[in-house]
Amino acid sequence: MELASSTSRRDETTAFDHPEFDGHEKIVFGHDAQTGLYTVIAIHDTRLGPAMGGCRMWPYANMQEALTDALRLSRGMTYKNAMAGLDYGGGKAVIIGDPKLHKTPELMHAFGQKVDALGGLYITGEDVGLTPADMESIGGATEHVRGTSKTHRGDPSPYTALGVYNGIQAALRHKFGSDDLHGRTVSLQGLGNVGFTLARFLHHAGADLVVSDINEKAVQKAIDAFSAKSVNPEDAHKVEADVFAPCALGAGLNAVTIPELGAPIVAGAANNQLAEPGDGAALAERGILYAPDYVINAGGVIALALHDVEDEVLETTVRNIGETLTIIFRRAEAESAPTDVIADRMAEERLSSRDV
Ligand code: NAD
Repeated sequence: MELASSTSRRDETTAFDHPEFDGHEKIVFGHDAQTGLYTVIAIHDTRLGPAMGGCRMWPYANMQEALTDALRLSRGMTYKNAMAGLDYGGGKAVIIGDPKLHKTPELMHAFGQKVDALGGLYITGEDVGLTPADMESIGGATEHVRGTSKTHRGDPSPYTALGVYNGIQAALRHKFGSDDLHGRTVSLQGLGNVGFTLARFLHHAGADLVVSDINEKAVQKAIDAFSAKSVNPEDAHKVEADVFAPCALGAGLNAVTIPELGAPIVAGAANNQLAEPGDGAALAERGILYAPDYVINAGGVIALALHDVEDEVLETTVRNIGETLTIIFRRAEAESAPTDVIADRMAEERLSSRDV
């Protein structure tokens, strides 16, 4: 890989001036010459507990790009874990490289050693570019990893879907006074691990589904299994429905799509749904109830955090996402602020309650 170690040293000294730097407690630049590992581990906040967040492997063009992602994503995990009611702080790791070309079990093991050297201050897991097999390699070097066969409860996406389902019910209760899904229409964009399971929950509860995915097989499967109607993925947000549930890509709510939205509720699993910080306010101005993404999609991280509790306890905790959203919706009205702003405010309140 074309990355001189002097580059990483130079970037480390400028990390504090980085636009995404937000008082991060610790930033570790890790390198292993034998395996070609270049990693940035960013620990944003540990007031609630050890920093937890996955590791992403991506062909970043340079160390600066990798640092940007690590700083931004680790801060996001602080807010997500805080709002999920978990006693974990926020952290994230990135590895520079193309997972298809540069990933080896040895490189993953070397990454695990970097994590281990932090002595439990950071707990890693799977993110974009990594697989359950990589978790095993990391697990050979550290116990501070979730999603290995030792700690694995299975794929966390059903819990994400369960949380989103409960979030949709909370949004319906708030908007219409009832969470009965009979006669309600949900436009569901993205029928992957989360989206398909969510479609099943919604169908069993009586909802009518309009589905979309770039994968035509997944669409056909949903049509067959749930008597769903289909729409082109680029038109999913325009469907006249009660709920638009984005479960594919981020940045789907933007200056173009918000005026075109056909549903009074947006509640889905996708990460980073708002393209710009002001987009939450644009939704509120249109009277659209938005379930903040990092709150409604926290079921998966809850499942990883509570890997050693009874299923019943885990499911109850995931279902609480609905209660948290209800509090957010009510406060947004009482404080005349967009729901995404209220979620951030509530996370910051929980964090500052731990200040001495
Ligand atoms: P996935 O990769 O299994 O599914 C994504 C689906 O979206 C695929 O079927 C894909 O074909 C489809 N898709 C891609 N581009 C599309 C487009 N332009 N229009 C319509 N469909 C498109 O991913 P997933 O695990 O189901 O996650 C879905 C979303 O939820 C992602 O944004 C992810 O970051 C977020 N999320 C997932 C989890 C989890 O537990 N898996 C947790 C939190 C957040």
